Amino acid sequence: LARSPHEPEFQQAVHEVLGSIAPVLDRHPQFVSAGVLPRLVEPERQIMFRVPWVDDAGTVHVNRGYRVQFSSVLGPYKGGLRFHPSVNLSIIKFLGFEQIFKNALTGQGIGGAKGGSDFTPHGRSDAEIMRFCQSFMSELWRHLGEHTDVPAGDIGVGAREVGYLFGTYRKITNRHESGMFTGKGVQWGGAEVRTEATGYGAVFFAEEMLRVHGDSLDGKRVAVSGSGNVAVYAIAKALQLGATPVTASDSSGYVVDDAGIDVDLLRQVKEIDRARISAYAAQRPSARFVEGARPWDVPVDVAIPAATQNELDEDDARALIGRGVRVVSEGANMPSTPGAVAAFQEAGVLFGPGKAANAGGVATSALEMSQNASRQRWSFDDSERKLRDIIADIHAAAFDAAERYDRPGDYVAGANIAGFERVAHAMLAQGVI
Ligand code: NDP
Repeated sequence: LARSPHEPEFQQAVHEVLGSIAPVLDRHPQFVSAGVLPRLVEPERQIMFRVPWVDDAGTVHVNRGYRVQFSSVLGPYKGGLRFHPSVNLSIIKFLGFEQIFKNALTGQGIGGAKGGSDFTPHGRSDAEIMRFCQSFMSELWRHLGEHTDVPAGDIGVGAREVGYLFGTYRKITNRHESGMFTGKGVQWGGAEVRTEATGYGAVFFAEEMLRVHGDSLDGKRVAVSGSGNVAVYAIAKALQLGATPVTASDSSGYVVDDAGIDVDLLRQVKEIDRARISAYAAQRPSARFVEGARPWDVPVDVAIPAATQNELDEDDARALIGRGVRVVSEGANMPSTPGAVAAFQEAGVLFGPGKAANAGGVATSALEMSQNASRQRWSFDDSERKLRDIIADIHAAAFDAAERYDRPGDYVAGANIAGFERVAHAMLAQGVI
């Protein structure tokens, strides 16, 4: 870690894992002698590259592209690409590091990686997005492949971008290699439920945590942040399970809708009009827009942060606790600061960390890879059942690991320990490499 003093998000993610696994190292001294930890915190490979592109006015722009291939001990590198102005090496490394354990938890035989660029998609035309994606992939392609590294979407990389990226890879390599990218359109190799999987999975994880206490989501009020891929489908699934999701947000503010968020309207505003979240309130009498704030001071039973890292701090956590929150299921990656996590846990809130709670997306990506490899197509219902089973297994693995290490109900420790054990055993078996 001394090598990365200027990478605060990466340090935060590593400290969170290290805080949980000390007792595992005590029980397994062979992990220490095999240097598992110092090897794990150093990515197997980091790629940084120039992404030059031309906007519609003919001006040349240069962005920076990243791919951090953290660990392939359990399978090919797997993890999304993020296009957002905040992207830097620290952000990509924290995401790639978390991805190792998340992917291990899925039990699907996938390694950990993450990538992206500091490109700002907002306000860019389709043609500009296409040219950017083509330039990005004209370098990244040489590092990818179905047995090597399989990216997917993340913030700023949805169906449109995946299409342009896949098309460029196909053109350069002269290979229609379906299994080299997940999140593809269902007409050209994509899997049913992949689009919905992360949001659905975060809701299933909340339901699993409640089930241990003989409860369910039925009748609960839910606060969701974000209005992107994860948030929209978390809201949709919460509604289907009888809950009332009352908020959605973007970087301009949030909307509260006591009648329950209208998913069709939200999708129209965000996915079709590509407008700001205030446009939702403007078209919905039961909703109001709160500018420049986050949706954590609304009375709810369940909170699903689904926007970005560190979007929920200790003050937000205390506000939520004061308004009655009992369950937090992280749809985003590391949305809660360490202070917020501690506050939730001290207050006895059931807290599902992103590593476990949002693993449904990558797990379904692995199902997409299976279907690509076997040239099969599974139905929506079948795929959703598989997703639900995988989330139940992840919940059980985290729950059991927490029990085994005398931290009952601590899903942060449980997820870190269960993921780490799988990775560490594989590293031990494969030697110092
Ligand atoms: P999208 O780009 O579809 O949506 C992101 C949403 O979060 C938008 O509403 C965006 O608002 C908001 N947001 C982004 N950055 C900020 C910020 N700095 N402050 C406030 N709001 C912000 O991304 P996804 O839904 O795919 O991803 C959301 C989170 O879920 C990320 O943490 C991602 O890593 C995680 N995740 C995603 C998976 C997936 O399958 N897509 C899988 C696992 C985790 P605005 O438009 O204003 O920027």
